[in-house]
Amino acid sequence: MAFSQAARDWYHRELAGIRDAGLFKEERFIHSLQDADIEVEFPSGAKPASVINLCANNYLGLSSHPEVIAAAHEGLRHRGYGMSSVRFICGTQDIHRELERKLTAFLGTEDTLLFPSCMDANAGVFEAVLNEQDVMIADRLVHASIVDGMRLCKAMQDTYKHADMGHLEEKLVEHQDKRFRLIITDGVFSMDGDLAPLDEIVALAEKHNAMVFVDDSHASGYIGKTGRGTHEHFGVLGRIDIITTTLGKALGGASGGCVSGRAELVEMCRQRARPYLFSNTVAPVIVSGALKVLELISASTERRDKLEANTVYWRKLLTDAGFDIKKGSSSIVPVMLYNAKLAQDVARDLFAEGIYVVGFFFPVVAKGQARIRTQLSAAHEKHHLDRAIAAFIKVGTKYDILGKNKAEIIAKYGT
Ligand SMILES: *Cc1c(COP(=O)(O)O)cnc(C)c1O
Repeated sequence: MAFSQAARDWYHRELAGIRDAGLFKEERFIHSLQDADIEVEFPSGAKPASVINLCANNYLGLSSHPEVIAAAHEGLRHRGYGMSSVRFICGTQDIHRELERKLTAFLGTEDTLLFPSCMDANAGVFEAVLNEQDVMIADRLVHASIVDGMRLCKAMQDTYKHADMGHLEEKLVEHQDKRFRLIITDGVFSMDGDLAPLDEIVALAEKHNAMVFVDDSHASGYIGKTGRGTHEHFGVLGRIDIITTTLGKALGGASGGCVSGRAELVEMCRQRARPYLFSNTVAPVIVSGALKVLELISASTERRDKLEANTVYWRKLLTDAGFDIKKGSSSIVPVMLYNAKLAQDVARDLFAEGIYVVGFFFPVVAKGQARIRTQLSAAHEKHHLDRAIAAFIKVGTKYDILGKNKAEIIAKYGT
């Protein structure tokens, strides 16, 4: 018997272990479009309730924008449902190349290559551009997809302490014997919402003859004056060698990703990156939608400006109410609770109050760093945030965490 009783028992025990550790992930079913207000089914299966969504990566509120949906319909009508091919066989339409050109202009790079997702872009890029003569030096908090991509590459792997420029410089000096050095970082770190100091990273790269890789998935579309990303924010447009990003967050929220940067590096990906060569092309309907997204955000900064105003307002509401939040300016605003069970209890109570947020705890964040991650959107109106803060205050009062600092919360709940 291929799937033996012994095997079944082992998997049952393993899954029970995940449940017992409080790490079992449940999915909630949304019965509406993705938006600021969504209809969500209760775990009991009761009739879906309307809740305010504070946990989507829908930064610019474009996931269900009528013009994006209309453009996607046009793409469907004129370029069909699917290509039934990878890009290099017969999966490249005019609109795929057009989107790559528009992304290149938007990101301020030399060329761009679409991937089925940013996970795939990260899985393929390192192996395509580096070999055993080289070294990859990554921030210790980079996204899981970068960790996986680095594992697939034959270059030596090293890390530097999170955003620690002194440590990065030590590593650059240590690896001067290597042919190429590639510094690897997220632009915006998804758990804390902090920005990598790209101005300092680029300066170190130029001083020690290294290349720079930035995954700007949580930044593309809204960070920087015109939303181009972390490199625009830090004034280093055109000086990042490789950018990867996703179309699955601010840029419409559907799916798809890209590698963008130096023309030769992008061309190496076109020739060698395995997820590009061996996985299906991004569907025409998504390409058409993404073209509309770029058109909308290039024509006006209204959405990113509204997101910025919402972010400033929400950070002030939380701070005034006495919550312990991670400081910063990004639209990821973590409310720190430190204890995993507390984070789950607070999230559950907020859901009952009509606010959809999720508790994050080990292994998604470090032990003792449990939190609720709130995320703002240009789709939020002031009334959404006013209702949300009322619920946060009610639940925060119940657990007696308002006005309490880290030590006080840990003294009460442990980590
Ligand atoms: C979300 C995210 C990804 C994955 O993007 P997909 O296009 O959904 O695969 C990769 N890197 C970072 C930093 C992300 O935040």
